[in-house]
Amino acid sequence: MSIEELCTHLTELHSKSLLSDNDTFLFDCDGVLWNFPQIFTGAIELLNYLTAEGKRLFFVTNNSTKTQDDYAKRFNDIGYNAKPEQIICTAWLTAQYLKSIKFAGKCYVVGMQSMKHELEREGITICGGIGADPLPPDANAVNTNKLEFDKDVDCVISALDLHISYIKILKAATYLNRPNVLFLATNDDASLPQSDETVMPGAGSILSSIATASCRSPTILGKPHAPMFDAIRLAYPDVDPKRTVMIGDRVETDIAFGNRQGATTLLVFSGATSEKDLDTLKQQVEKHAIERDLLPNFCVKDVGQFLRFLESTRKSLP
Ligand SMILES: [Mg+2]
Repeated sequence: MSIEELCTHLTELHSKSLLSDNDTFLFDCDGVLWNFPQIFTGAIELLNYLTAEGKRLFFVTNNSTKTQDDYAKRFNDIGYNAKPEQIICTAWLTAQYLKSIKFAGKCYVVGMQSMKHELEREGITICGGIGADPLPPDANAVNTNKLEFDKDVDCVISALDLHISYIKILKAATYLNRPNVLFLATNDDASLPQSDETVMPGAGSILSSIATASCRSPTILGKPHAPMFDAIRLAYPDVDPKRTVMIGDRVETDIAFGNRQGATTLLVFSGATSEKDLDTLKQQVEKHAIERDLLPNFCVKDVGQFLRFLESTRKSLP
């Protein structure tokens, strides 16, 4: 496909084709369906419309701080009847990845309670890393003799952790100094979506500190990396990437993910990547400065506009 054919502004006709040519729709959440607690106009109506049309919907999110059940409850509270298995979140994904490689050891998890919940649900043992692990408030040195290490750790997992501390990075890096210890990361997002000027460090910023200290590179599971799609295919073998649409607001994660897996990609301008950003990216791709898999097949203002195109298509049918 030529660059001219990419980044096509969605029309009614394209929307009709997206509906007829695809069975599965993957949605990113933040910046696509909501800036929580604000739910975007038309978002829930679009989900219900596609479901009524017999489409299969999954919600693919790099957020590791919520479980499948947490997300399903949120969707149900706002008017879409989601089942937990429709939620492809990175806490669930990490558990599925470990299950797929028949992992039977112990994990040190730098992450939140959601990670513990999803991993333990698959029978995976966690030995530390969840919750606060600070230095005493007046300490200005670390007494390593007082630190406890588990001799049987087989895997270190790096996720978003609001309780991240020097001690946790130290423990993760020390475990990773053992060459056979597996190193996984839920995702490498630099920051979290934020509606004010605050910069909220993402899982990637925590991961960088552990990777730097340990001189190790992790296997990264979330978007844009392949394990997330692999987990969907493993759980739902009949999902065909060629009959799948990925809808997202960030080119580096959502769009690259969809394109690399062979799905059709739709970028919405209601979140991270603006129309101006996309124009700049297009110029960079034309100069071969960046990869073309950052460019979506289609773009549209927001999910509400996509819904209006679909509804007007239906109204114009005989
Ligand atoms: Mg997003």
